[in-house]
Amino acid sequence: MIMESILIVDDDINLCTVLSEELTAIGYETSFLTGGEEVANFIKKKKTDLLLLDLKMPNTNGFDVLHEINDFRNSHPKVIVLTAYADVKSAIESARLGASDFISKPYDFDELLITIRKVLQSSN
Ligand SMILES: [Mg+2]
Repeated sequence: MIMESILIVDDDINLCTVLSEELTAIGYETSFLTGGEEVANFIKKKKTDLLLLDLKMPNTNGFDVLHEINDFRNSHPKVIVLTAYADVKSAIESARLGASDFISKPYDFDELLITIRKVLQSSN
């Protein structure tokens, strides 16, 4: 069985480690980055099925990452935006830039998991 791989990108290292442990415990292959700068490089090198992406990060924010990975659209992972700044405008902008779904922080793990499974199962 091939494990589905999830990359968490969030400047909150505690969120990264906790969420990474939670997702690993239920069988996902999980990695994390605490900034947006290395995301494009990472997903070019390593198969990544899903990106859990924070919007508000210093330097390279989530919108920058969405723009950047749209340049290699054919091979790019599905994206769920995970942010404390959950507002309609951010949700619309994220969807326009290719995000499949939007979860607000603090996240409810069961809700997040349902969304992860739904997005990974969707064909586009
Ligand atoms: Mg943040």
